[in-house]
Amino acid sequence: MQVLKFGGTSVGTPQRMKEVSRLVTADGKEKLVVLSAMSGTTNSLVEISDYLYKNNIEGAVHVIAQLEQKYMAHVEELYKSEKYKTETRTFLKSVFDGLRAMAKVHFTSFEEKVVLAQGELMSTNMVTNYLLESGIKAILLPALEMVRTDKNAEPDTAFIREKSRRMMEENKGYQIYITQGFICRNAYGDIDNLLRGGSDYTACLLGAALEADEIQIWTDIDGMHNNDPRIVEGTVPVRQLNFDEAAELAYFGAKILHPTCIQPAKFAGVPVRLLNTLDPTAPGTIINNDFIPGKIKAVAARDGNVCIQITSSRMLLAYGFLRKVFEIFEQHKTSIDMICTSEVGVSVTVDNLTHLDDIVGELKKYGTVQVDRDMTIICVVGDLRQENKGFETLACEALREIPVRMISYGGSNHNISFLIHKDDKKATLQALSKVLF
Ligand code: ADP
Ligand code: ASP
Ligand code: MG
Repeated sequence: MQVLKFGGTSVGTPQRMKEVSRLVTADGKEKLVVLSAMSGTTNSLVEISDYLYKNNIEGAVHVIAQLEQKYMAHVEELYKSEKYKTETRTFLKSVFDGLRAMAKVHFTSFEEKVVLAQGELMSTNMVTNYLLESGIKAILLPALEMVRTDKNAEPDTAFIREKSRRMMEENKGYQIYITQGFICRNAYGDIDNLLRGGSDYTACLLGAALEADEIQIWTDIDGMHNNDPRIVEGTVPVRQLNFDEAAELAYFGAKILHPTCIQPAKFAGVPVRLLNTLDPTAPGTIINNDFIPGKIKAVAARDGNVCIQITSSRMLLAYGFLRKVFEIFEQHKTSIDMICTSEVGVSVTVDNLTHLDDIVGELKKYGTVQVDRDMTIICVVGDLRQENKGFETLACEALREIPVRMISYGGSNHNISFLIHKDDKKATLQALSKVLF
């Protein structure tokens, strides 16, 4: 069994939906297909939510009407028969009526989650109906019944495994099983989601739960590139990544993958293949357990970090100082990404700024605190083991002209990270590409 996920661009028009349907049915083999919302839809739903939070009903209703018009036109293009046109129109109308009804209630984060779920509910309904109209044995398995998070808002993997296996078992004999990416229920049964870009996470969670042969992430580019193609020219696809290398790149900003989606696949030992819907025969990138020594694979960047430096002479020769510092972050449920220590100081980065003021207030008890905002982590990934001499020097050499705030090396065998100001991101990524690749 394979689990295939198609992102927003891959199902972004009726034409693309038809192509995806052809792609998943061509070999006649059974598959679980995870779909995102059509591209742009989740952004429109975020816009609607923003209007509703601000009680700007007129603004919300305007965006809803525009979106409805677009979807109703898609119905005409996608189906041949009146039967499927009517069925899909009726479903979509119920979605848009539901959105309009939101304008009449007190809007909270609970309603927002319901609004954000509609994109995936619509795309999966449309593609399932298209497959059925084309004579394919297809069935829609609701993600809201299979995917759940726990009280810590982490995926409840035991539940997902039990439920997805049971639902597949109870619906044997279909060729294509469709489900929604991104959306889930939380521990209390409310509609929730796995954060933006979360369809990749759904695919990896279900692929792991079902012990799939392979998880395929189909998107609009031919695999993981060796640098951010939105910023650097001339990037090329990396053909193979180790699970740890891919996890690091995803977490540190390679947008092609949701930040935490590799973990379940790694845990279950299911390879992940990144493929291009616009060029289905391109080899893409395979992510597996293999480790190719002696290679630097790729560079990624993640914005929105704050650097906190605590300096104190009390740290000198003292034990327990770091524990006290870390406890403050733990109490505020804020995880630390990068860390560097010296005998009289420690610098850390965080990207969850919810409790920043409280954290800084408490840290001041232990020393002088300096806060630098708008920082970017640049992560160089590949074989950075001690015996692979010279790569860390090359990376540092590339940054000769860049003011570097922190360097973290040796935490794992496969990365070296630099903290720089966000304004230097482009120059840093370009310089690294020039020197490393
Ligand atoms: P989807 O909607 O299919 O999930 P995304 O937009 O989330 O697609 O991810 C694909 C995009 O990720 C690419 O179009 C590309 O611009 C961007 N991207 C950023 N970094 C990388 C990288 N290192 N390799 C490939 N794509 C990347
Ligand atoms: N539709 C969601 C988003 O735009 C999830 C996804 O595409 O992965 O973030
Ligand atoms: Mg994505």
